[in-house]
Amino acid sequence: MNYQNYFREVTPYVPGEQPREKNIIKLNTNENPYPPSPHVASALREIGGANTRKYPDPAATLLVDALAKRYGVKSSQIFVGVGSDDVLGMCFLTFFNSDRPILFPEVTYSFYPVWAGLFRVPYRAVPLREGFRVDPQDYIAENGGIVIANPNAPTGIALSVSEVETIVANNPDSVVIIDEAYVDFGAVSCQCLLDKYENLVIVQTFSKSRSMAGMRIGFCMAAEPLIAALQSVKYSYNSYTMNEASILAGKAALEDEAYFSDTCARIMQTREWTREELKKLSFSSTNSSANFLFVTHSRVPAKDIFEQLRQRKIYVRYFAQPHIDNYLRITIGTREEMQALLAALKDIVGER
Ligand code: PMP
Repeated sequence: MNYQNYFREVTPYVPGEQPREKNIIKLNTNENPYPPSPHVASALREIGGANTRKYPDPAATLLVDALAKRYGVKSSQIFVGVGSDDVLGMCFLTFFNSDRPILFPEVTYSFYPVWAGLFRVPYRAVPLREGFRVDPQDYIAENGGIVIANPNAPTGIALSVSEVETIVANNPDSVVIIDEAYVDFGAVSCQCLLDKYENLVIVQTFSKSRSMAGMRIGFCMAAEPLIAALQSVKYSYNSYTMNEASILAGKAALEDEAYFSDTCARIMQTREWTREELKKLSFSSTNSSANFLFVTHSRVPAKDIFEQLRQRKIYVRYFAQPHIDNYLRITIGTREEMQALLAALKDIVGER
């Protein structure tokens, strides 16, 4: 029996742990420590079970229209999906179909090489410059598409709009995807370039800045022909990706702008405070514009710190990968959670 020879061979993405124990401090998957807007809970209460009898609107019109209004674009310039992972996967499938390699930074969101493998897209991981810097000039090279996380993950370092523009303007023959999963925590969105460039796709998510990772809502904005192409691919695969509850809860979240900006501001304040406190413990960190810090200690190896934090039920992220294996990525939690983290770190790095 050789039927296994015909299985698709893949190397899957490894998400951060989701421990189910109580009384842990979970700073390992960049979730938002605050609940979503109270509008979301009301919307979910209203749905109850009644509407689950029917299929949802395959075009998720209510959510798409609310996004178009919020971001000042046409509804025909928006595509939604089950988290930005779904949107990014659809973008790879739709836009990356050449024999030329797609380009992305060597240190970045580790799902990019996984989709490339799954969809059999050749790729070249571009080395970073000193200090984990993405150099736009490195992306002026032969390619079949480009994907950049901005701010980058797990470094948190953001490119300016003009740096992104250099990449987009110099690659008119391929699609450039800017993954803005963390943009609301202090970076500037490249949405402003959409009117000028029809080869640009801006991807965002409700998982981080809108505290809705569990609802799985992502979206992208682009010129109309790109959105139409994405829809054709989606309707060739699964028409009903967005469920009714996510459509309505997503729309409700967009209607509470004050809550959104307030929680983002709190996270940014806590990030800057934590960064200063970490400095006092001899940690250094990148200049993060995201809801996490990327840190290294002057003496104690990151892996040791990671393990000792874990024993104390504090979960952060450690990547056993070249270039970053002496770093920890720490999600910004509440001020109290960060205080507990700092107390544990003081103990751990002070012990030596
Ligand atoms: N892009 C980046 C850079 C991320 O870190 C993540 C979170 N793992 C995602 C996209 C996907 O997030 P989601 O599918 O929850 O929208």
